[in-house]
Amino acid sequence: MKLLVTGGAGYVGSVCAARLLEAGHEVVVLDDLSTGHEDAVPAGARFIRGDIAEVIGDVLAEGFDGVLHFAAKSLVGESMQDPGKYWTGNVLTAIRLLDAMKEHGTPKLVFSSTAATYGEPREVPIPETAPTAPTNTYGATKLAIDHAITSYAAAHGLAATSLRYFNVAGAYGSIGERHATETHLIPLVLQVALGQREHISIYGEDWPTEDGTCVRDYIHVLDLADAHLLALENATAGEHRIYNLGNGTGFSVKQVIDTCREVTGHPIPAVVAPRRAGDPAVLVASAERARADLGWKPERADITGIVRDAWEFTRARHEA
Ligand code: UDP
Repeated sequence: MKLLVTGGAGYVGSVCAARLLEAGHEVVVLDDLSTGHEDAVPAGARFIRGDIAEVIGDVLAEGFDGVLHFAAKSLVGESMQDPGKYWTGNVLTAIRLLDAMKEHGTPKLVFSSTAATYGEPREVPIPETAPTAPTNTYGATKLAIDHAITSYAAAHGLAATSLRYFNVAGAYGSIGERHATETHLIPLVLQVALGQREHISIYGEDWPTEDGTCVRDYIHVLDLADAHLLALENATAGEHRIYNLGNGTGFSVKQVIDTCREVTGHPIPAVVAPRRAGDPAVLVASAERARADLGWKPERADITGIVRDAWEFTRARHEA
């Protein structure tokens, strides 16, 4: 297939682009490099630098079999302070994309949605049938896009899949997480191991969990990428399917830090800090629907392996 990967210079987008190329697809990456890195675009992909809202019509006019839409603003804190950036950057851009796909008859869409669409869960593990009540603007914009996709699929025959990611981690060789503003737990802990940060702050030790710290479902970025390929293969015209992607197992902040100590051999000092606004205590996915419909099975669920891949990537970049 000839596929357009928006945000293919970012973390998840670049890993997916690499896997699509390995699977024999033709890949074009569209990215404005606002947060991505041009050197993350895998060799073999054609790269177009541009703002989706401005160029998407011209790009899709050359004819594509599908779009994988990763490009987005994704910082929860920033989304609360500057919501307009998220409603414009995420929602308006997605509508421009959907309209251009309709105009040029692009048949398939895979969209990067998020567990943040659910908000504070009423049941854990979280199924796709759980109520959606996002607690932050980032999640609200992703949910709005999911709703838009549902109506475009029904009205215009789009074959669409939204994948709701839980906590993506790990790396694929030289492609990994390198955000200018890093807020995610594993890369921050690894910065301590590299000596770039004195300690890791634990955001709250008084949560209603076994060790008092928040529990999350960490999924390897390669397992996530594989789900995108399966979603493309299984998409049906006129249907919008939604799948949660996680391992179904939760790890606490303290367990993650302990794993990082074990993998890096560094003592990694940790300091308890106040809770972070908007954090639910426990977020764990039920990925049963993805298993049943797509035959998707995470192959790299072990947290030690996930941290090891992230550490190898981080250390190699540091030493380079
Ligand atoms: N966290 C933490 N210290 C940090 C960064 C994150 O204790 O410096 C916690 C955070 O409160 C959450 C978990 O680690 O419970 C995962 O946070 P992350 O930002 O990686 O992902 P999120 O679950 O917010 O998508």
